[in-house]
Amino acid sequence: MYDPKSLKAEDFIDDEEVRATLEYAEANKNNEKLIDEILEKARPVPTETGCVCHGLTHREASVLLACEIPEKIERMYEIAEEIKLAFYGNRIVIFAPLYLSNYCVNGCLYCPYHLKNKNIPRKKLTQEELRAEVIALQDMGHKRLAIEAGEDPVNNPIEYILDCIDTIYSVHHKNGDIRRVNVNIAATTVENYKKLKDAGIGTYILFQETYHKKSYERLHPTGPKHDYAYHTEAMDRAMEGGIDDVGLGVLFGLELYKYEFAALIMHAEHLEAVHGVGPHTISVPRVKKADDIDPDEFDNGIDDETFIKIAACIRLAVPYTGMIISTRETEEVRAKMLRVGISQVSGASRTSVGGYTQEERPHDTEQFDVSDQRTLDEVVHWLMDSDHIPSFCTACYRAGRTGDRFMELCKSGQILNCCHPNALMTLAEYLEDYASPETKKTGYEMIERELNNIPKENVRRTAMENIEAIKNSNRRDFRF
Ligand code: SF4
Repeated sequence: MYDPKSLKAEDFIDDEEVRATLEYAEANKNNEKLIDEILEKARPVPTETGCVCHGLTHREASVLLACEIPEKIERMYEIAEEIKLAFYGNRIVIFAPLYLSNYCVNGCLYCPYHLKNKNIPRKKLTQEELRAEVIALQDMGHKRLAIEAGEDPVNNPIEYILDCIDTIYSVHHKNGDIRRVNVNIAATTVENYKKLKDAGIGTYILFQETYHKKSYERLHPTGPKHDYAYHTEAMDRAMEGGIDDVGLGVLFGLELYKYEFAALIMHAEHLEAVHGVGPHTISVPRVKKADDIDPDEFDNGIDDETFIKIAACIRLAVPYTGMIISTRETEEVRAKMLRVGISQVSGASRTSVGGYTQEERPHDTEQFDVSDQRTLDEVVHWLMDSDHIPSFCTACYRAGRTGDRFMELCKSGQILNCCHPNALMTLAEYLEDYASPETKKTGYEMIERELNNIPKENVRRTAMENIEAIKNSNRRDFRF
C-alpha cells in the first residue's frame, strides 16, 4: 500500500502506485490543458528575495515525461534552464571519482567488478598508493572527490574506507587539498553511516540501479546487494546515522525508463516526507561498455533525446536538488544536459583503481568506458566557452550548510551573493595554480564579467579583494 512516510521500501516505492502513475501519464500525455497546468506549476515564481519553485509530484512529472508534443517538450527545456539559473546560477561544480578497490562479493550483471569476473585483476590501494593518487588529482586542480569501492567486508571493511578518507583529507600538496570527500559505497548499517559522518564525508551516494524489484533481484543474483529492501532503505539509515546530504541515482538502461523515473521521484518525495529534506543530488548514469559487459545485452537502453528529456523532467520535479552527469557521456551529450539543469560534472576521470598515477588511462581495472576523455583544463575551458562558471567550491559543506540548511540557502535566492562569489574565488585558485595560459586568460575575463553580477556591493568588494589576494599568493580560507 503506497505510503511515502513509511520506512518500508515496498510502501514508499509501491509497485502498484508506480504502475498507476504510468497509466495516468499515458492517458494524459496529449492532454494539453493538464500539461500546461503542470508546466505552469513547475515555473520559478519571483519573490521579494529571489524566487521559489513548487516542484512536481511523481504523477505530474510522469505526465511531462510521457508527453510527445514538440512545443511542450521545448517549453520543458526552457523551464528547466530557468530553474537551473534561478537556484544554481551558471555555476557548474566539478569533481572526480577516485576508485579505492575493485574487490567485490556481489554478482551485479552490469558491472565488471562482479565476483565471477575472472578477467580483471583485483586491486586495492594501499594508503601510500592512495596518497599518490590524491597528489595526482590535486595536481590537476581537483578539490572534490567521490570515492568508490566494491562491496567486500574482508577487503574493503568500513575501517579501510575510514582510513582512506583520513588519508585523503591529510594530503596537502603545494596549494592543493581535497576539501570534500563524497562516498559511494555499498548500503550499510546506521552505525557505519555514523562513522562516515564522523569522518567528515560530504554526500553519501548510492545508486538504486533499478527500482523495479523483480528486475533488481534478477540483476543482483548473488551477494548482499541482492536484498532489495536493504538497498532501497539505505538512505533512511544514512539519514538516521546523521548524514543529511544523500545522492540518489538509477542506472538507465536496466529497466523501462518511465518506471525508473516515477520511482526515483517517489524516493525523493519519501525522503522529504520522512526526513524533511530531499536528496542533495541525483545522478543519471546510463549502462556503458566495460570488461565482461555489453550494454546491448540490456534491452532498455535509451537514446540521447529521451535521456535529455528525463534530465529536464527531474529538474522540474525536484528543483532544489543538484544533478550530476559523469564522463560516461560524450562531450556532446554533456553539453546538451547542461542546458536542462545539470549542476555538477566530473572531469578528467579515471575509472580504474590507481588510474590517476598512470601516464596512459589504464583499462585493466576500469569500471566503465570513459566517453569524455578531455583533461580537466579542457573541461574547465569548455565550460567557460559556453558561459558556465567552473566551480571548485566546497564552502557549504565546510560551513555546515548541509541538508535542509543548504536547501534554505538555495531557496532564499541568495546564491548570487554566496555561491557565485565562492565559485569565482575557487576558479581564481584554479587559474593561478593549474590552468594553461589560454584557460587562465579566458578565466580572468569571465571573473571580471561575473563579479559585476554579484548584487551586494560589500560582497562584491570582498570577493574582488580575495581574488587579488589569490593572485598575489596570499591564501586564506576564502569563502562566503
Ligand atoms: S555495482 Fe558495485 S556492488 Fe555491483 S559488482 Fe559493481 S562494484 Fe560490486
